[in-house]
Amino acid sequence: MVSYKELGLVNTRDMFAKAIRGGYAIPAFNFNNMEQLQAIIKAAADTKSPVILQVSKGARNYANPTLLRYMAQGAVEYAKELGWEHPQIVLHLDHGDSFELCKDCVDLGFSSVMIDGSALPYEENIALSKKVADYAHLYDVTVEAELGVLAGVEDEVQAEESHYTRPEEVIDFSRRTGCDSLAISIGTSHGAYKFKPEQCTRDPRTGRLVPPPLAFDVLDAIMEQLPGFPIVLHGSSSVPQEYVDMINQFGGKLPDAVGIPEDQLRKASKSAVCKINIDSDSRLAFTAAVRKVFAEKPGEFDPRKYCGPARDLMTELYKHKIINVLGSDNKA
Ligand SMILES: [Zn+2]
Repeated sequence: MVSYKELGLVNTRDMFAKAIRGGYAIPAFNFNNMEQLQAIIKAAADTKSPVILQVSKGARNYANPTLLRYMAQGAVEYAKELGWEHPQIVLHLDHGDSFELCKDCVDLGFSSVMIDGSALPYEENIALSKKVADYAHLYDVTVEAELGVLAGVEDEVQAEESHYTRPEEVIDFSRRTGCDSLAISIGTSHGAYKFKPEQCTRDPRTGRLVPPPLAFDVLDAIMEQLPGFPIVLHGSSSVPQEYVDMINQFGGKLPDAVGIPEDQLRKASKSAVCKINIDSDSRLAFTAAVRKVFAEKPGEFDPRKYCGPARDLMTELYKHKIINVLGSDNKA
């Protein structure tokens, strides 16, 4: 048993309460490797933003659970070295799909876990989420649960169509599960292809796809049912067209990749939405930077020479999100 407190991590409780009061959202950035972790911590330390390091089941297997725990511990120490005196860093399991996986993460130093029972029938989702929350709370680990289904693909999680969260269920669900935050579905989606072209309109000037707006009426109805309760948005990458263009220019093939416009996320950040998940955007930045080096310097074979630029571009991306989209800078 390793407590997250020994690693210097924090849970999400105070962080979310402050974010709701302050009208901003905490960035939840996924990571799988050292360069991504360095970029996240550098961006958070430079902007003094609380941050959630998010790991999916697939990422955990990719990195190795033991190595990962020490990476998180190292991240806290690295943040201090960068001059961030009291780093506010959460290590969070993204899309836990079983009690056993969540328990394993609680036991190995995670400070927050998500149990995703959203694909289960309502009563089964409640039973599973409650079981996880009951266990996690013994160790002061916070729990995110989900109601409603997001479309798209993320690691093992995928769904054809989205189903908006039903506001009439949220009180019952949060009370009976004891969850600390609730992931909802209001039209965000996993992956770099969040919408099919037929769901979008096209900007006549640029020819680019314009996605349908988020269902802010559903969000409002949920907040009315659960005033002040922490709400989470998954699948909230914006799929910056400059990265898509760079990838396509240097030999990639990402036709019509489209995400959530940043102005909509900025609006959501000011509400009870206090955690916004961003993964695809950093994958795109990483890939764009690597492709550029490969195309321009075909003789290059030192991984530092292409992972370094990728790290720089991701750092820039994370800072942009923190300052211009979520508003979480200078909050830690
Ligand atoms: Zn997700």
